[in-house]
Amino acid sequence: MPDEPAAGQPLRSRAGAGGAGAAAGSQADTTGGLGPVPPGSGWPDDPATGASAAAGSQAGTTGGLGPVPPGSGWPDDPATQATPVAASPAGVRALAATAGTLAELAARQSVCRACPRLVGWREQVAAEKRRSFAAERYWGRPVPGWGDDRPAVLIVGLAPAAHGGNRTGRIFTGDRSGDVLFGSLWRCGLAAQPASIAAGDGQRLLGTRMIAAVRCAPPANKPSVAERDTCAPWLAEEIAQVRASVSVIVCLGHFAWQAILPQLARAGFRLPRPRPAFGHGAEARLRAASGAGGEHQQAAAPGDQGTGPRAPGASGGGSGEVLLIGCYHPSQQNTFTGRVTEDMLDAVFQRARQQAGL
Ligand code: SF4
Repeated sequence: MPDEPAAGQPLRSRAGAGGAGAAAGSQADTTGGLGPVPPGSGWPDDPATGASAAAGSQAGTTGGLGPVPPGSGWPDDPATQATPVAASPAGVRALAATAGTLAELAARQSVCRACPRLVGWREQVAAEKRRSFAAERYWGRPVPGWGDDRPAVLIVGLAPAAHGGNRTGRIFTGDRSGDVLFGSLWRCGLAAQPASIAAGDGQRLLGTRMIAAVRCAPPANKPSVAERDTCAPWLAEEIAQVRASVSVIVCLGHFAWQAILPQLARAGFRLPRPRPAFGHGAEARLRAASGAGGEHQQAAAPGDQGTGPRAPGASGGGSGEVLLIGCYHPSQQNTFTGRVTEDMLDAVFQRARQQAGL
């Protein structure tokens, strides 16, 4: 596994070429990383064209091309060649803080290059591929938040899978964990279709949005603490942009639970002491520091009627309260061993839907 992205050298040269994306990235970010050179963008002796890039984004027609260039025709790609690129922790902080809309935030997330180890890994996987996906183009970029722009339910995962989200460009899409998760979301009325196969497949989340604590696929599914912290401003800004409508947050696994708590504190919620412990079905009701109360409830059982349904957004962060629910991650290990079952997932998401008033 390389420590540095193979595309590092061309990035600086591309910035010097004066393209729109290069100029925007270098000004906004004080960094030079812009990702691989898009085919047909003026690189000396480049044998490819933009048309070949767009054609290559269609599954089943290409192999071994590495990450998808921004704005080259991949379904639901939020970025363009003009999207500024973060290439350092400072760049992530600056670009997250100045993304004026959720769409711009997703675009900036999707081209980030701030973690050298993860950039190298995601692009290596995209170039080498798994044998069963050898005929497909891999996304090979960070996987941005996806779903409703004004969600009542927010689902937080760990990070994209190397051959799942890193291949399809959509979170929890194209792997077995996603198959289990979307099956449950569909049964519980939070997804339009029972499966999420690929970007552009017609799948939609209903009143729900999904994000990952770390946006790039990590080796062995284990991001470092430094990588988690580097990615945290993207998470913080996404929470800030949806908090007015969100009333329930479901954390898939301990990592997501631990990652979201400090970001909720940054967003103005009061964290109880001791901090609420993660568990399947564990709950913590957090209130904004400026609001009344601030107490939390711990370990209410899924299916408990609690305080009853609320209208979407009526108890959301913007008006002072959010319900955090823990859920075991639907990883293959957890589902194969029976640590988490379809019924257990359904209980959590039915609870989330009911509490969000959906
Ligand atoms: S993990 Fe986050 S901060 Fe690091 S490169 Fe990916 S998107 Fe950027």
